[in-house]
Amino acid sequence: MDREAVGYLHSKESFSALDGPGLRFVLFLQGCPLRCLYCHNPDSREFFSGTEVTAGEMLDELLRYRSFLRAGGVTLSGGEPLAQATFCAALLEGLREEGIHTAIDTSGGLPLRLTQKAVDLADLILLDIKDIDPQVCRDLTGVDNRHALETLAHCEETGKSVWIRQVLLPGWTLAPARLGRLADYLKDFGCVEKVELLPFHKHGEFKWAELGMDYQLSAVEPPSEEEVEACRDIFRRRGFSVQ
Ligand code: SF4
Repeated sequence: MDREAVGYLHSKESFSALDGPGLRFVLFLQGCPLRCLYCHNPDSREFFSGTEVTAGEMLDELLRYRSFLRAGGVTLSGGEPLAQATFCAALLEGLREEGIHTAIDTSGGLPLRLTQKAVDLADLILLDIKDIDPQVCRDLTGVDNRHALETLAHCEETGKSVWIRQVLLPGWTLAPARLGRLADYLKDFGCVEKVELLPFHKHGEFKWAELGMDYQLSAVEPPSEEEVEACRDIFRRRGFSVQ
């Protein structure tokens, strides 16, 4: 591994049960090229800020928790972790040599030619396609879904495990017809092991205010449990394991 590869960290979380199989050590990497309207970590978007660390230093720190990590693993999240693909690849290579399970939590918003090495070194990709309709995706996030779909196709070709993550935002992605289109599209991908539906929430709204940014979703309420369950059914009916 390239121990000198430099990365920028937003924060760390040591006992997450939400970001991959088992208990995870989650590294939130700084920087994201997307501009999702519902982003609950807008403070993680800026590049080249946060804590500077080398892959070697990060690996050494993680290995202090070796026995804990062997029962779960490490998840790289963000921001958009694959915006720091060289650092991710170096760290993932080191963790692979130690036999530790790894996952990348990504929007897939960057071209595969920039991210492929890191994608190939991870054990699991947690992929948020945002929306199956390219124009809705662009309006919601600033980019369309072509690179996310390219990343998914590459995972299928290489036999990489994928969990799909989908935020349910009323008025936007909580749209049964388009969720049905997404589910139909995903049916052809044997690499997709699971679908996780994440109800929209406003826990990060205060950060937008702190940053002096205009939060456009103040009037949007989180979906009801009945709405979420109806969305789960859309995927269950197509044979997916859904959370
Ligand atoms: S991809 Fe994630 S970090 Fe980036 S803007 Fe969207 S929600 Fe925020």
